[in-house]
Amino acid sequence: MGRLSSLKAEILEAMDGFRVVDHHDHLREVLFKRCLMEIDLPFFFARGYVRSDLVSSGLPDSFYEPSEDYPNMPKVFSYLMEGRDESEKTWSRLKPYLERVRNTIYYRYLLIALRDLYGFEDEGFGENWKELSDKVRAKSRDNPKWALELMEKTNIHRVILDVAGTGPPSTEIVEDERFVQVVRMDGFITGDANAVKNFVGNEPLKTLDEYLEALDDAFERSVKAGVVGIKSGLAYQRVIEYREVPRCKAERVFKKGLEKASLEGKRFFQDFMMHEVCKRCSEYRVPFQIHTGIQAGNYNTIRNADPTHLTNLLRKYPDVKFDIFHGGYPYFREAGILAKYFPNAYVDGCWLTHISPSAYKEALNEWLEIVPATKIFAWGGDHVIPEHTYASLKLAKNLIAEVLAQKVLSGSFSMKTALWVAGRIMGENAVEVYGL
Ligand SMILES: [Zn+2]
Repeated sequence: MGRLSSLKAEILEAMDGFRVVDHHDHLREVLFKRCLMEIDLPFFFARGYVRSDLVSSGLPDSFYEPSEDYPNMPKVFSYLMEGRDESEKTWSRLKPYLERVRNTIYYRYLLIALRDLYGFEDEGFGENWKELSDKVRAKSRDNPKWALELMEKTNIHRVILDVAGTGPPSTEIVEDERFVQVVRMDGFITGDANAVKNFVGNEPLKTLDEYLEALDDAFERSVKAGVVGIKSGLAYQRVIEYREVPRCKAERVFKKGLEKASLEGKRFFQDFMMHEVCKRCSEYRVPFQIHTGIQAGNYNTIRNADPTHLTNLLRKYPDVKFDIFHGGYPYFREAGILAKYFPNAYVDGCWLTHISPSAYKEALNEWLEIVPATKIFAWGGDHVIPEHTYASLKLAKNLIAEVLAQKVLSGSFSMKTALWVAGRIMGENAVEVYGL
């Protein structure tokens, strides 16, 4: 074993004893108290991030035509909700495209889970795919239990779940002290009446004052229910630059009715509301997680999600801890600069591990040169399938150990500092910042 490998092995071994926090995950369906669906091999792949590579390699979008009966579920997988088996047919539609993406990390990291958890070595998926598929499906038959078992196996101390959308924290999730939740106030920001209803019921909100009171209530109720932070995913829909808008301007748009507002009018209202949400994050002392960088899926506009758009919010709300997601990839240098400049900015590598391991290593390597290690959150799975989170954590630990071993080898860190950093970025920072 070379010097680098032995340092890496030493760090990995120490990391096994650390309390890991999964900073961001969506494991909703698999944690429902009642098992709603089983997962077979076609679903295992098609519901993963590899979806976007499958589509960009030519899989027709129609493959993902949504089901009318089951929300968030492509029609092609209805059979999983109905206890039937149509995996042969679905696999034959997917297989040609899976072959085209066999080089991408979205595909390859999933092999880690299939190998470790199902003993599967054949990455090409010959005749034996069905046997594997049946194994995966059998495990998922009791999926809350299976998800918890995997958590046990990986020594995950806490998972910050993002499962409720704009609404009170979910009570359908199995009760387990390891799970904490964030909720989104995006529905209030965009003026999405259906989402706001989750908090206020059918009560009509006639004035902007009433609307802001409803937002107060939503914060009050969420924090009382144990929510540990607020999340915004608006980078999927719009540029994340939120200008300061005078209240009267937002009020005018609200009075006239948001549906009738022009694009610019809507933007005024949203910008105004984002500031109102930030004020309440400060008042209620809850960290604010913001999606920046690459959006899942296809066809989006990456420049909308550049984390530097957030600069004015970071400056204006020094009491709000902003958790800048996904390392801002591909703008990971910019995200690092924000965490360097602003005491209230944190950089979060959730999802980034399996977007690009090379970028992750580069990002972490540089962040550790320019940002206090107490402001880096290293990992979050960001999945709906628990095996995917397993694979991502294994990959993350490897990448982190590699970066730290390199720093020890080059003499820039002592082993003691490397292990302190690992403990901090894998969990202790989150325990501190989110009060876990
Ligand atoms: Zn996510």
